Amino acid sequence: MIEPIIDSRVIEQLSKLLKSARHIVITCHLSPDGDALGSTLGLCRVLRNMGKDAYVVVPDQVPRALQFIPAVRDVVVYTMAQLRGRFLVRNADLIFCLDFNTLRRIDKLGEVIEMSNAPRVLIDHHLDPDDVFDVKISFPRLSSTCEVVYRTLQQMALLRYVDTEVAQCLFVGMMTDTGNFTYSSDYPEIYEIVAHLVSYNINKQWLYRMAMNTFSTDSLRLQGYALSEKMQVFPEDGAALITLTKEELERFNYRKGDTEGLVNKPLCAPEVRWVMFLREDADQIKVSCRSEGDFSVSDICARYFGGGGHKNAAGGDFHGTMDEAVEAFHKVLDDCRQQNICQNIFYKRNK
Ligand code: 5GP
Ligand code: MN
Repeated sequence: MIEPIIDSRVIEQLSKLLKSARHIVITCHLSPDGDALGSTLGLCRVLRNMGKDAYVVVPDQVPRALQFIPAVRDVVVYTMAQLRGRFLVRNADLIFCLDFNTLRRIDKLGEVIEMSNAPRVLIDHHLDPDDVFDVKISFPRLSSTCEVVYRTLQQMALLRYVDTEVAQCLFVGMMTDTGNFTYSSDYPEIYEIVAHLVSYNINKQWLYRMAMNTFSTDSLRLQGYALSEKMQVFPEDGAALITLTKEELERFNYRKGDTEGLVNKPLCAPEVRWVMFLREDADQIKVSCRSEGDFSVSDICARYFGGGGHKNAAGGDFHGTMDEAVEAFHKVLDDCRQQNICQNIFYKRNK
C-alpha cells in the first residue's frame, strides 16, 4: 500500500492548474542525468497521453549515455535551439520544474522561465527549494524525482495514462538516482512502485545495461587511469580525492559523461567514507562529492563550493586553478579534523 504523502490541497491546486492548461513546458537541471530526463520525459508522455501539448526543454545537451531513452529525440535543448525554447516557454500556460530546487540550476533557461507568467510547479527531492514556485511538491527523503512524479500521478488519479514508455522513463530515474537501488531506497514502498512499473514490460535488464553499464573504451581507460594514478586516500580522515585536468581528459578523448560513476568508486574501500572528485571543465572546476552515512557532502558543497545537492551526493563549482581547488579540499579536511567530524566517521565504522 503506497501511502498518499502529498497534501490533498496541493493535489487539488495542481489538478485545477492542469485542467485549464493546454501548452505545457517541462524542464530539469543542467547536465541532465537519468532522474532529470526520466522524470521530465515520463511526465511529458503522460501529459501527451492526456491530450496536452507538452514539451521537454532542457538547459543543455543530453549526455550520450542517456540518448538510448526513446523519447529523447523530442527534447528541445536550449543551448542548441534558443528561439524554439524561448517560444515554447513564452507560449506555455503551465511550467513544470523537475529535479532541481533553484532556477540557478538551469542557467540561462532560468531567466526565460523567470520572465514567464505561467504558474511554476516544482516536483523534486532536493533540500531547501527556493520560493519561486507556485506549487511545491518536494520530498528530499524520497529516492528520486521520478518517484515523486509517480506518487503525484497516483494521487491525482492519472496512473491510467502510464504506458510502457512512461514506466521505462520513471524506472530509469529511480534506478540511476539510487545506484541501482543501493542507497536512498531502504523503504518498502519504493519496491511497490518498481513492481508496478515492471508490470509494463519495461525490460529492466536492458535499461540497466544502457543507463548504468555502458562506457566507451576511452572512458574505461580514463577511469582506470584516474583510480590507479590520480586517486589519493586519506585514511585518517576517511576521505579520498580524485583530480583530472583538462590535459588528462583530452588524452583520453574525453566526452561529457565519460566520468559518470567514477566518484562512487573510492567508496568501495572500507577506509573511505567520503570522496571529492575535481574535474577541470572549460571555465571552472566541477566538484562532485559522495559519502556514506551521516557525513553530509551537501553541506560541504554548499559551504565551500557554492553548490549543494543531497546528503550523500552533491556538487558545486570551483573558480580557480586545479592546485587551488586541491588546496580547498585540504582546507575542508582541516576543518573536518577541527570539528572532529572524521572521528565520528571512524566511530561509526568501528561500532
Ligand atoms: P553529480 O556529482 O552527479 O554531478 O551530482 C550529484 C548531485 O549533486 C546532483 O544530483 C545535484 O543534486 C547536486 N549538484 C551537482 N552539482 C551541483 C551544483 O553545481 N549546484 C548544486 N546546487 N547542486 C549540484
Ligand atoms: Mn534526482
